Amino acid sequence: MKTSIQWKIVTIYLSLVLVIMVVSGTLIIYDIENTYYEKLKNELVDAAEMIETRLAVETDEQLEESIDEVEKTLSMLVALNKHDIYILDATGHLLLGSTSKYAIGQLVPSKQVIPKVIDKKQAVTLDWPNFASQDGGPEYVEHARPIMDKNTGDLLAIIYVMADASDIYNNVFNAMKTISLASMVAMAIAALFSAIFARMITVPIKQLTKSSKQLAEGSFSRIPIYSTDEIGQLTQSFNYMATELSRTMGAISSEKSKLEKILQNMADGVMAFNRQGVLIHANPVCSEILGENRIDHRFDFIFPKFGVDVSFDQLMKNEERENIKADEGIMMEIEERYYNLHFAPYSNSLGESEGLVVVMQDVTNQQKLDQMRKEFVANVSHELRTPLTTVKSYTETLLDGAIDDREIAVQFLRVMEKEADRMTNLVKDLLELSRIDNKQMQLDLRAIDFRSIVEDTLEAQKIHIEKKGHRLIYEANPELDYIMMGDSARIRQILHNILSNAIKYSIDTGTITVKLYKNKDWITLQVQDTGIGIAKPDLARIFERFFRVDKARSRSQGGTGLGLSIVKEMVELHDGTIHITSKVGKGTTVTVQFKPYTS
Ligand code: ATP
Ligand code: MG
Repeated sequence: MKTSIQWKIVTIYLSLVLVIMVVSGTLIIYDIENTYYEKLKNELVDAAEMIETRLAVETDEQLEESIDEVEKTLSMLVALNKHDIYILDATGHLLLGSTSKYAIGQLVPSKQVIPKVIDKKQAVTLDWPNFASQDGGPEYVEHARPIMDKNTGDLLAIIYVMADASDIYNNVFNAMKTISLASMVAMAIAALFSAIFARMITVPIKQLTKSSKQLAEGSFSRIPIYSTDEIGQLTQSFNYMATELSRTMGAISSEKSKLEKILQNMADGVMAFNRQGVLIHANPVCSEILGENRIDHRFDFIFPKFGVDVSFDQLMKNEERENIKADEGIMMEIEERYYNLHFAPYSNSLGESEGLVVVMQDVTNQQKLDQMRKEFVANVSHELRTPLTTVKSYTETLLDGAIDDREIAVQFLRVMEKEADRMTNLVKDLLELSRIDNKQMQLDLRAIDFRSIVEDTLEAQKIHIEKKGHRLIYEANPELDYIMMGDSARIRQILHNILSNAIKYSIDTGTITVKLYKNKDWITLQVQDTGIGIAKPDLARIFERFFRVDKARSRSQGGTGLGLSIVKEMVELHDGTIHITSKVGKGTTVTVQFKPYTS
């Protein structure tokens, strides 16, 4: 059963008061009873002594003479004290009595004291009123004293005095009533005070209990302090705890929300598994990487699906992780994208493993860059080796005697010169790209007339156009100026490459259309050819370094596949755009745009 402190205190107080009242009441009653009894006993003794003095007899004869005398005293004493006084003979028969309870000469019924006096010839007082008299009759206090024959030493008579002790009883009863009343009043007062006292303790405790519950529910309200005692100190400690807890909870929740934001917004996928390998957290990137439907709830079901052969138990036991280099992780490929998986177990405050965190880092770009770098190096070495091999074989043939045939020797030397030119161009292009990559390309920016550079370039390429029997159509509005901020040498380089591509990749007698437009936002150059065109998949790769649709064809034209890469970089350095559309067999259109210069 739930009993409150309040009731416990009240009960203890009441019990205490009850015990005190019972003990002190018993003692008081005992004392009162004793006092009254002693008083009554003394009265009886005094009365008997008085009778004895009055009797003043020493012999049998004197006794008879004194009886009358004594009768008067007797009635006076009886009137005074209301005790029963009897004078008995030596055998206990009544000689004279203050009451008519017994007849003269009747043997007074054997009270305890009379036989004792007859027997011992000494005064006897009943030690204790016979409250518990078995016959239920009135309780008495008795005293009897012998009157001795001075000569013979025999018992002459007995003075027997008795008193009703019911007065004592009544007094004791009254005292008991008073004490009971006092006890009840004392208990009522005690109950009231203890209830007030208990309330003083329980009210703050109840308040503390309520606030503790609120605290557990997340409300950090403070409790007013009314005292400096232990309860006050407890309340103070509680308030301190609430403040600290609120601060800590605030810090934890801000830390948590920070962490959640980080997890939500980070580019890497993060998953957490508990000790049993069950997924307990996955940030949104995980769904993007693995696909919403493919995220299973168990570690051992997720990763094998993507061909990653790792066991959760072994990772937790540290065995597997030792085989995975900390900074490398495990590579996972999903739909042509590459992810590096890192595994890190986390532990609780006791240092026991609690689970595993898996971080999925998208390394597709690095992977592609790496691939590109490898391809680039392979391409460069290949492009350098090819002319060198040609030069070397031609040199050997010359040395082996071909040098003597002048015609062949000149032809060989021409080829060697061409190859050397190709190498020079290649190295020049590579240097250019490397300068662009390292941001070392310095543009000599000036306000230039784009149209005149286009026309110069067309003039320079005219010979090649004519050589291949192409028709050139050139359109520009002579009334407009096409002034832009640019490095004229670089712009020339851009135009040269685009035009030479149009010439190179058109079958003879095609049409090359060059158009210049201008609006307030852009100066646009369009170079259109009716050449071989570029297939869609190749078009997507046209700006890649060393990319050529038809390697042999391009090579035969002296191309390296770096031209358009450099063009794109240079156009972008000028804040311009380049766009190519093409249809196989129909032709290609290259559109370049630059911002016009406004002074
Ligand atoms: P380089 O320009 O370095 O001498 P290249 O012309 O081969 O060599 P790019 O200018 O980068 O290299 O062009 C890359 C490839 O794109 C070419 O090899 C060719 O296959 C294709 N290409 C470029 N322009 C055209 C075009 N106008 N018509 C058809 N194919 C083209
Ligand atoms: Mg080119």
